[in-house]
Amino acid sequence: MATSARLRRTTPALPSVPANTDEAVRRALLRFYDTEARDLPWRRTRDAYAIWVSEVMLQQTQVAVVLGYWARFLEAFPTLPQLAAAPLDAVLAAWRGLGYYARARNLHRAAQAVVDRHGGALPASVDALAALPGFGRYTVGAVASIAFGLRAPLLDGNVARVLSRLFAVHGAPGEPQRERTLWDLASRLVPEERPGDFNQALMELGATVCRVASPTCLLCPVRQHCQALARGEVESLPPPKPPPARRYLRLAVAVVRRRGRLLLARRPNAGLFGGLWELPAVQLAAEAQKKGAQAALRALLGPGTRVGASLGTVHRTLTHRDLALCLFQADAPARPRKGEYVELRWVRPAQAARLGVSAAMQAALAQAEAAVPAPRPRAAHRAGGPRRQRPRLTQARPGR
Ligand code: SF4
Repeated sequence: MATSARLRRTTPALPSVPANTDEAVRRALLRFYDTEARDLPWRRTRDAYAIWVSEVMLQQTQVAVVLGYWARFLEAFPTLPQLAAAPLDAVLAAWRGLGYYARARNLHRAAQAVVDRHGGALPASVDALAALPGFGRYTVGAVASIAFGLRAPLLDGNVARVLSRLFAVHGAPGEPQRERTLWDLASRLVPEERPGDFNQALMELGATVCRVASPTCLLCPVRQHCQALARGEVESLPPPKPPPARRYLRLAVAVVRRRGRLLLARRPNAGLFGGLWELPAVQLAAEAQKKGAQAALRALLGPGTRVGASLGTVHRTLTHRDLALCLFQADAPARPRKGEYVELRWVRPAQAARLGVSAAMQAALAQAEAAVPAPRPRAAHRAGGPRRQRPRLTQARPGR
């Protein structure tokens, strides 16, 4: 009773609907979920930790991609305490290719907080979940309702689209009043019984029926309640989100070798590729030429650094950025300048793959290796193998 009184107070502007619509929508969606939902592995488990990992991965990544990552991640870190105890590098390495690495850092931090505060098991409480690092409103709603059966709403892009059409909620995506209305609708609709299945039914409907383009309204289980369909507004709701401005990011990257090891640097936790390892790199102005790039790398690594020929450029497309990594062969002193990096380390190329390195930087490492292969370990030379001279800076291949 207290909950419904509170809901009534916080939802003064909710779209009015005929009596019993909410209940009919709940019943239809649960029936749809029982008969039509895709069979996804995280829907077959009751392990709150495994469900949480899937929800974090799914926030920015498509189901087809998450399937493989989720299974491999749980193989590497089968329990929450094992995730908490793992080095951050191992977690970031397991995340490589999924992007949005802040999710992996938050997952790791939250796992450690769960071990400290709750003995290693996710708490079955909305308030306790909300107090964990990286638990936004969506993650709280997903874990609380799906893993623990608590009556908690959630709103993601799919749910927002379904609700905005079903109840003819106008306004542009991201507009605060629209977001409040949609959250209030999600709160009003989520039932006491089977809240997790209901939330997943909404997401499933958005992913498979009420799609952005060409929704299949004829097959929709809630079409007789859909106000957008009744008013002919399906195509215009929700209005398209303006695409984010793309940024072009060009970096000069130093490939520094010393006795068979590569110099890697760890970025601070905040910002793009936060906490990941990379070949030392510095951002270039759009108009910077080769000489400017070489000078920027000398300034980055400090006195005694020599920067040689280009080893080519690696191009990568990120969600909001076009990235160009311009590789240069370089020599640096044993203790190069650390600058804003958290840590510098000399590592063998094989070790680099086990550190947290972004997919873009992995491609740069592969290109550097192809351009100038690392010398073989000494034992191989002693065994009579051909000794490969490391090319001098002036001998490096020209870039493209
Ligand atoms: S009837 Fe069409 S627009 Fe309305 S909820 Fe169903 S699929 Fe979406």
